[in-house]
Amino acid sequence: MSNFEIHSLPVLTDNYIHVVQVDSSRAVVIDPAVSDPVEEFLARKSWQLTHILITHHHSDHTSGVQGLKAAYPNCKVIGFTNDAHRLPQLTNQVSEGDHIIIGQQAFDVWHLPGHTTGHIAYISKEEKVAFTGDVLFGMGCGRVFEGTYDQMFHSLQRLKSLDPQTKIYCAHEYTINNGGFAAQAIPENKTVHERLKKSYLLRQKGLFTVPLLLEDELKTNPFLLAKSLADFSRYRDARNKF
Ligand SMILES: [Zn+2]
Repeated sequence: MSNFEIHSLPVLTDNYIHVVQVDSSRAVVIDPAVSDPVEEFLARKSWQLTHILITHHHSDHTSGVQGLKAAYPNCKVIGFTNDAHRLPQLTNQVSEGDHIIIGQQAFDVWHLPGHTTGHIAYISKEEKVAFTGDVLFGMGCGRVFEGTYDQMFHSLQRLKSLDPQTKIYCAHEYTINNGGFAAQAIPENKTVHERLKKSYLLRQKGLFTVPLLLEDELKTNPFLLAKSLADFSRYRDARNKF
């Protein structure tokens, strides 16, 4: 599978839609905020869309599903069973611990509540890639809208257990803003300042900071460096006001 490609399409203000090739001519898409750029991309590649994977119900992760279903009527739509009532119509409901095999690619489903109560991630330990939606961002984490700080803290702790070489495909380009907060929250951390500088240069060139490397997050992300729920909560409260 390692020869297969993953492409991130920048859409809306700061969203990414990730397209993952699963065999020579087929692909899946994660969190389609919109449909047109995905259709154009797939047409350019001559790839068929077989599955849409949804991490959570927010519209900037799901609004493209209808258009893609119209263009690819046979494509399956996968999402969390507990959220089926508020997701676009699912063909396959999944839950914590499920193992999905699509083409030559396989994903584990992790339930990572906090940003929303029904947030899931699609993870391939073998390929060292994780599609984490709005849980983990570059030097930051998702806002806690529905879940509790405790849930978010533990969701992040789970992601910390992955191989540090895992590539994190999150759904937003937030690294610069989060880096500004991290530089203030943990000013003694020199790596944060270096990474922020590098991120600026990438963005100036129109390049992405995503995928993130988990190893970099482990060194620079205040929410992963937080040693306790109390530390995490202090950072999350401060970030909300930043
Ligand atoms: Zn969201």
